[in-house]
Amino acid sequence: MREKIVAGNWKMNLDLNEGKELIIDIVDKGVNANVTSIISPPFTHLQTFKTMLSHTNIALAAQNCHQQDEGAFTGEVSVKMLKSVGVQYIILGHSERREYFQEDSLSISFKVNNVLKHGLKPIYCCGETLAQRQDGEHFETIRLQIEQGLFQLNELELINCIIAYEPVWAIGTGETASPEQAQEMHAFIRNTIANRYGEITANNISILYGGSVKPSNANELFACSDIDGGLIGGASLDADSFIALTNSF
Ligand code: PEP
Repeated sequence: MREKIVAGNWKMNLDLNEGKELIIDIVDKGVNANVTSIISPPFTHLQTFKTMLSHTNIALAAQNCHQQDEGAFTGEVSVKMLKSVGVQYIILGHSERREYFQEDSLSISFKVNNVLKHGLKPIYCCGETLAQRQDGEHFETIRLQIEQGLFQLNELELINCIIAYEPVWAIGTGETASPEQAQEMHAFIRNTIANRYGEITANNISILYGGSVKPSNANELFACSDIDGGLIGGASLDADSFIALTNSF
């Protein structure tokens, strides 16, 4: 059976003290132990949170990394460094990084390779813009993002990846893809993987949905057969919402 996952992407929100308060609240109230819960705070919080979460089943993710292990790359953080402070997952290719930092699927593929080389798991994000959907280009956009970002991997590597489908028009907008729209794209992604790697591999990969997911719409989305959980922005900044999302399967 595929892993059920709820991953909270805090983005560039909450300073260390605010973040510690939220972690204490989440740990006190308790996430669903049958779901893999992941929190992805800013880099500056990771080491402190690792200690705070050491006796819990909540894992830590970083929001980005560099593709090299070390060197003259001012301002960057490597996978090796993130691993040394206890990070287990790294979100890659979030639409905000594609839009504001000029990342594309090819450059992200190098990061994917490095994350896997160090034994961590990439959460590879893909998603189409509103214009691409309105022009009927959404399937082709996602197919290319999946192929260019992940198809350099062999089967054993791919199996360690998590995919997050996040339609750009639904991120932070309050607009959610309908369960039918989300399920249709998740099935398409799984089928794209099956065509290249076979059904067994495709059926073992967790594909998360992201885009204005909240406790009020999560049940319907997570009930879809190809949706294995969520990558959550805004609603992960509130302990009750985050916990409710882990209980929405
Ligand atoms: C995200 O940042 O990945 C996201 C899905 O944000 P939100 O839930 O706020 O739309």
